[in-house]
Amino acid sequence: MKDLEYGSMNEETVCGFSRRDFLKFCSTLAVGMGLPLSAGAKIAEAVTAQKRPPVLWLSAQECTGCTESLLRANHPTLEKLILELISLEYHETLLVGSGKQAEEWRTKSMKEYKGKYILVVDGSIPVKDNGIYCKIGGKTVMSLLVEMATDAAAVVAIGSCSSWGGVPSADPNPTGASPAHEVLKNKGVKTPVVNIPGCPPNPYNFLSTVLYYVTFKKLPELDDQARPKFAYGRLIHENCERRPHFDAGRFALQFGDEEHRKGYCLYKLGCKGPETFANCPVQLFNDVGSGAWPVGTGHPCFGCTEKGVGFTVPLHTPARPKYLTPPSLFTEVYPGKEGISPGVKALAAGFAGAAIGAAGAAAVTGLGKKDDDTKDKGE
Ligand code: SF4
Repeated sequence: MKDLEYGSMNEETVCGFSRRDFLKFCSTLAVGMGLPLSAGAKIAEAVTAQKRPPVLWLSAQECTGCTESLLRANHPTLEKLILELISLEYHETLLVGSGKQAEEWRTKSMKEYKGKYILVVDGSIPVKDNGIYCKIGGKTVMSLLVEMATDAAAVVAIGSCSSWGGVPSADPNPTGASPAHEVLKNKGVKTPVVNIPGCPPNPYNFLSTVLYYVTFKKLPELDDQARPKFAYGRLIHENCERRPHFDAGRFALQFGDEEHRKGYCLYKLGCKGPETFANCPVQLFNDVGSGAWPVGTGHPCFGCTEKGVGFTVPLHTPARPKYLTPPSLFTEVYPGKEGISPGVKALAAGFAGAAIGAAGAAAVTGLGKKDDDTKDKGE
């Protein structure tokens, strides 16, 4: 059995990192979760003062992209920290053993950490024909999910497939691919489930959720789709670096056209940012700096974190905007708890007018309509 202890926070290094770097990392995660900077120290203390949380990882109908996104970060820090901060007891892709040996390890870990382990599920669960389309060790993954979730402290459904069906559930969904939380609910399993959708999901959102659970002994605040609000509380459109172009009615109309090369808004190329909740433009991917997310590289967001959008709506069909708020980086207009003062109301109205009404009018009135500009360009 592995030693599950961390280094102490009083030591010079923690998890192989300097104490200062480790604190900085925890503070960054705290801020990303909407917690005060000081919560970073609490997270650092909590995760070093106890045994590493045991994690069992069940893979169902998936492409292994979720695992790859955790382990293939360009910068070595993240995956090292993930593997240092949790004790990954069972993971089919990463286990040294296989077959009977792997099964024995799974049942042994479940018994040893009964009621304490976190079950991570990636991939959708086939339920058609009693779940025969995905089996591990002779058992359907549907029965394995129920068995493993029953004794878990919490279930983390990582990736779009386990959160809401993802790729395998695309029409005509031949295997009856279903999200983990739906299967568990139908089978009467009461273990709390948190969804971290994305294709692939952002590893920071996964790590932040696990560390929040370890520190505060409860799941973070969730939205109506069981996603952590700190990561999925805002539309992509609110934080997108191309948003000023949207508000000004400047759109790319074809891949490679002058507007596309200038970095104009991708709405008319099918960007689903206005109806997709996620922190991609803020959290980014692979630790390589600004622009490392789909829209940043010039491709429209395809809505992978949103049930009923990604893998459901055609890639280049225009989005159905949920609502049009000013970008989240705009000045706060709701100070204090006494309500909105007339002055602030006027400011908000002016703001909304400027951001949505006047400057964005040309853009907004054209949403969802056939793009005559495209025709003008001879398409
Ligand atoms: S439509 Fe897409 S590219 Fe345009 S501002 Fe919104 S999220 Fe960004």
